[in-house]
Amino acid sequence: MIPHPVVDTAGAPEDGPARPMPRPVGFLVTTPAPVDGSTRARSGVMSTPHGDVETPMFMPVGTNATVKALDPDDLHEVGASIILSNTYHLALRPGHERIERLGGLHRFMDWDGAILTDSGGFQVVSLGAMRTIDEDGATFRSHLDGSLQRFTPEHAIRVQEALGSDIAVCFDQPVPPHASSRAEVIDATERTHRWAERCIRAHQRPDQALFGIIQGGLEADLRAVSTTTLAAMPFDGLCIGGLAGDETPAQRRAALDVVVPLLADDPRPRYLMGLGSPMDLMDAVDAGVDLFDSVLPARVARNGALWVPGGRLNLRNARFLDDPRPVQEGCRCRACRSFSRAYLAHLFRADELLAYRLATCHNLTFTLDFMAGIRAHIRAGTFPRLVRDERARRAAFGIAAMDPDDRDTQVVTGAA
Ligand SMILES: [Zn+2]
Repeated sequence: MIPHPVVDTAGAPEDGPARPMPRPVGFLVTTPAPVDGSTRARSGVMSTPHGDVETPMFMPVGTNATVKALDPDDLHEVGASIILSNTYHLALRPGHERIERLGGLHRFMDWDGAILTDSGGFQVVSLGAMRTIDEDGATFRSHLDGSLQRFTPEHAIRVQEALGSDIAVCFDQPVPPHASSRAEVIDATERTHRWAERCIRAHQRPDQALFGIIQGGLEADLRAVSTTTLAAMPFDGLCIGGLAGDETPAQRRAALDVVVPLLADDPRPRYLMGLGSPMDLMDAVDAGVDLFDSVLPARVARNGALWVPGGRLNLRNARFLDDPRPVQEGCRCRACRSFSRAYLAHLFRADELLAYRLATCHNLTFTLDFMAGIRAHIRAGTFPRLVRDERARRAAFGIAAMDPDDRDTQVVTGAA
């Protein structure tokens, strides 16, 4: 077992610089989790240099400085207040220094809402055989042209400072839970802690917040050590990494049941990286998570799968070619206000570009309205009942036994 850290109650690494106050990103819990323990769900407001973000919140993913198929007006219309962009992809193309010369990422993509950039750790580690990791950083081959590249904690911070996101994230070494031995998880988790301290020392930009990443795999003791270690550092928020992969929902819940109670009195937002199906989001909110991101709603939309209360419609199915109804009755999105299922089904069959835009508008509107519904239930004190009802509904339909690869079909009705 890795040793327990010495918790620095001053909240700063021994030789780290003092962090300027006030911090650029603040967080206020407006509805705390109820004292009866019926849920750890809470709602709040995260203030950023580019506007307030109500939590719990989902962040659409704009990998290449664009949420695929949408422009900034579409993003505002679906209800996005914060998006995620990918450090790894933008560093390789078009290059963070170019984006900096062009005025930073907000100006470059003309998005005036908040932006969180990930650190690139997940993408670099996902390259598998195409990368090697040493104590100083990771060396890998670009997925674009095969060129040799190197990311260190300092470089990941430099890239994110050049991009100018509102929230930067520490460079970490995630480990796939089922493909890693305990020794490998310990090794990666301890390195992630050392890299977190290096990121804090490297980070200079006063108008940018910095979040740390908790690792520790699926083993409770390692998760706990990682949580207390990261929580003792002067981050503006805490990411929960290494989940939303190949673990089961029960394993994810068990990990969250270790992490969140250890952060119960911690005033910072908690962000579970990579989670996107509505049912999974509701479960994680119940476990006490505030922020989420995933490519899932947009990716399945581009495949023609549109989320509706109770399930999803596959618009590539011929039965929709004569269906005059909107995708979802009463949906406020651009697709449902103006167009029929028949029209979208035609666009998908004809490979028309508009299909991707309209379908993405719908699935992101569905997801963000779903989160708004969850926030309303939390504020009204009815969230525990919502969770109970949805779990009963899932049990009745045997949905929990479904193939995890098909998890995005587990769409709930209650909060949408
Ligand atoms: Zn819609």
